[in-house]
Amino acid sequence: MGKITLKQVNKSFGEVAVIPGIDLVVEDGEFVVFVGPSGCGKSTLLRLIAGLEDTTSGVIEIDGKDATALPPAKRGLAMVFQSYALYPHMSVKKNIGFPLKMAGMDAVEAEKRIANAARILNLTSYLDRRPGQLSGGQRQRVAIGRAIVREPAAFLFDEPLSNLDAALRVSMRQEITELHQALKTTMIYVTHDQVEAMTMADKIVVLNAGRIEQVGSPLELYHRPANTFVAGFIGSPK
Ligand code: ADP
Ligand code: MG
Repeated sequence: MGKITLKQVNKSFGEVAVIPGIDLVVEDGEFVVFVGPSGCGKSTLLRLIAGLEDTTSGVIEIDGKDATALPPAKRGLAMVFQSYALYPHMSVKKNIGFPLKMAGMDAVEAEKRIANAARILNLTSYLDRRPGQLSGGQRQRVAIGRAIVREPAAFLFDEPLSNLDAALRVSMRQEITELHQALKTTMIYVTHDQVEAMTMADKIVVLNAGRIEQVGSPLELYHRPANTFVAGFIGSPK
């Protein structure tokens, strides 16, 4: 369903190789966190997987099939942006259902999926509101709902909680972890926050200057860091 394989994936902007060549396997159903300092290439890597950027070279496979040249809509993945990416003039229901409408889905099936996503995310009584009438956490749930209705093979999150205050960030972390346990769908979650990585991940990918420093479980990284970069990065949360 949601296995993602990167083979020597390279991305250059002009002369600059932002991702010089990455090999990585994300297993179906895993919760994988890409963590690293600002500017290390996390968003670029996620956008390559989503198909929002073209690779300069290398291969991206989804479920064993070459997806390198597929447009985003054909990859079966859903990217979750920060909550401000909602349409302010549309109701919650229309925001959640928007991708289905764009895909031309039958209205009855779309209704079912919207109702199901709203139930999972505790948004059932908010479906007629506009985003401006919701709390920050509820807005973030709407953004996640818009991904759930597509029933993607994998969810791709790019720092989805960075706009939220500290207390809300902690509760949303827990909610996303619970969502993963409920759906059992592959999730790739990008953050520069070590605590987020350590508390949420099955597997952490530590990035530095477009390269993978180490891949491992939170415990492996904590107890057996591969080098001083990993030890310093994991060992010293802000
Ligand atoms: P992160 O998400 O880890 O903060 P990014 O993937 O956004 O890092 O950026 C990695 C590097 O690639 C940065 O040096 C950034 O300036 C550069 N970069 C990202 N997108 C572009 C682009 N469209 N054109 C040129 N350089 C880019
Ligand atoms: Mg980024």
